[in-house]
Amino acid sequence: MGLDITNVTKRFGAFTAVDDLTLTVPAGQMFGMLGANGAGKTTTFRMLLGLLQPTEGKISWKGEEITYQRTNEVGYLPEERGLYPKLKVKDQLLYLGRLKGMDKATILAEMEKWLEQFKVPEYATKRIEELSKGNQQKIQFIAAVIHKPELLILDEPFSGLDPVNVELLKGAVMELQQNGTTILFSSHRMEHVEELCEHLCILHHGKPVVYGKLREIKKSFSKKNVFIASD
Ligand code: ATP
Repeated sequence: MGLDITNVTKRFGAFTAVDDLTLTVPAGQMFGMLGANGAGKTTTFRMLLGLLQPTEGKISWKGEEITYQRTNEVGYLPEERGLYPKLKVKDQLLYLGRLKGMDKATILAEMEKWLEQFKVPEYATKRIEELSKGNQQKIQFIAAVIHKPELLILDEPFSGLDPVNVELLKGAVMELQQNGTTILFSSHRMEHVEELCEHLCILHHGKPVVYGKLREIKKSFSKKNVFIASD
């Protein structure tokens, strides 16, 4: 049992942002969501987090409806980054970790482990605004995973990153999946999804146009990939 999205539609007034989306992500799977700008990926993620209510349909995690109160079970890397520029990395993570109910010692231990893994142990005392975009992204990623969520949602985690940082982040994502985390991430780019996910969905104007196993999709839908890059 994992994440179940059943006939979910989200309308903003007369505009349909997500149109009858049904998909299942078994616990422990890494699932990719592809689509051009405006395809409905972020709207879907916000519904998974309980930040938006579906107009129609149902979303459940481990058999129970997702609500905002369950967000401790979920980690979220938003597309628009949300760090406080003036805060030191350590204070930023202490603040966000406490919101997730963690104690100081555990937050600091997790922070040190991740900064070490990202090869920037000295960043704990740097202010967010002193870091490059790529390094801010690492901190945002640590903020999403510091409380060891069971379900991790990453909205465009690799956008704007240089190749070295993309590889570091991909390694971290793979390690989390190997340790049992269920992961959903969005991307504009097939190659990122291809490398990490066995299963994926392609949204086009809010509609799921392709859904299933990557190997099978590649065989039968190769022409459809064209609109992802060009749309
Ligand atoms: P991007 O990669 O650009 O973030 P996306 O696939 O994540 O694209 P969404 O952000 O989910 O797309 O947006 C889907 C559509 O819904 C867009 O046309 C967007 O303008 C619209 N939309 C999203 N939120 C709202 C809102 N609160 N009110 C009205 N329209 C909205």
